[in-house]
Amino acid sequence: MFDNLSTKLDKAFKTLKGQGSITEINVAATIKEIRRALVDADVNYKVAKEVTDKIKDEAMGRDVLTTVSPGQLMTKIVYDELTQLMGGTKEDVVLKGDPAVILLSGLQGSGKTTFAGKLATFIKKQNRTVLLVACDIYRPAAIDQLKVLGEQVGVEVYSEPDNKNPVEISQNAIAYAKKNNKKVVIIDTAGRLAVDEQMMREIEAVKRAINPSETLFVVDSMTGQDAVNTAKTFNDRLNFDGVVLTKLDGDSRGGAALSIRAVVEKPIKFISTGEKMEALDMFYPERMAQRILGMGDVISLVERAQQQFDEDEAKRINQKIRKNQFNFDDFLSQLEQIKKMGNLKDLVGMIPGMSKAIKDVDIDDDAFKPIESIIKSMTPQERATPEVLNGSRRRRLAKGSGTDIQQVNNLMKQFEDMRKVMRTMNKMSSTKGGMQQMA
Ligand code: GDP
Repeated sequence: MFDNLSTKLDKAFKTLKGQGSITEINVAATIKEIRRALVDADVNYKVAKEVTDKIKDEAMGRDVLTTVSPGQLMTKIVYDELTQLMGGTKEDVVLKGDPAVILLSGLQGSGKTTFAGKLATFIKKQNRTVLLVACDIYRPAAIDQLKVLGEQVGVEVYSEPDNKNPVEISQNAIAYAKKNNKKVVIIDTAGRLAVDEQMMREIEAVKRAINPSETLFVVDSMTGQDAVNTAKTFNDRLNFDGVVLTKLDGDSRGGAALSIRAVVEKPIKFISTGEKMEALDMFYPERMAQRILGMGDVISLVERAQQQFDEDEAKRINQKIRKNQFNFDDFLSQLEQIKKMGNLKDLVGMIPGMSKAIKDVDIDDDAFKPIESIIKSMTPQERATPEVLNGSRRRRLAKGSGTDIQQVNNLMKQFEDMRKVMRTMNKMSSTKGGMQQMA
């Protein structure tokens, strides 16, 4: 789903090179690329412009946390804005009345009848009795199609093949439901290949007559901008309550999912992702935004860093690295911070591409324990100036920490290697103007 859009957005984030904060100059190209990616994905131009303007406002002047790269921070900002664009939070169908009536509208071929079957299955699972109503008076085949689906999912289908009045059929169906103790009635109406006046008048009349607790508009997400335009036409006439996006399993570019809410100001309530009766999901804006960005893990990582990481401490350590003064006290403090962020395997798994790689690797949450014990056995002087740690001191540390000399030597070696890398980075960055350049 949305592979193309995800790839393009990812590329846009990578062009953002970090200084200490995001500024007008370093963000401009990225914003432009994000806008282009959205428009290419068939997002309405006005919507794409509005959302990227908001993203820019949000990003400007943000201090880039030491723990995340500017690109990662941008991913999170875009994620928040896309989530808002799609409505922010999940909205449920409203089932009110006895029976509760749900009216389905949409063009022919949108997946309306298939959705009727899926919704019936979904509601039946909540232990409510359902009646499906075939209200397409033009295509006898549509009635048969619903009957087949009804049989497949074990839900009764009401139809009056000889009646050409959809208002009457719906009213009769509701009366039938009352008599037969059906708690939810789903009415599948006639659809045309394109919006036409007669169809609109007909469904308006049905809506007026039966006053459904929920009117849903079903639309094929693969039709992109057309989907948004059709939604607008239907909403102007029907004032529907929610949208069902179908065929999201196909190579839909994402435009409809992203623009519909902003254009018609109605929530998407369901998404349909296949022809099977189970292929129905409630619509969660935040999950959809994660799928579009294809980087749910980065978002959680930034969120946790924002919540947990002590930014002043990170800056202090950065200063020390710059002055080649990084010592064992700083090392210990870093370990504490990492541990605060949560389970080690979870954390490593959040690094893009890592979750698959470490699937079968056993990362022990106590992996830091021996290191911590060794450092804690050092005197303040040893921690501050590790150079004094000679053979006899190391033996003492091994004994004091319950480890062995090998482990102590390994830690010393790792620490020295780390400091070497830091020194090299310092040399490089002093010619480029700052550590952040390395990100
Ligand atoms: P209606 O004319 O609006 O009632 O549309 P149908 O329910 O008959 O669906 C039209 C076609 O789209 C059928 O071949 C369905 O199997 C197919 N379809 C419906 N929903 C989905 C979906 O979510 N994914 C895919 N791939 N196909 C779907």
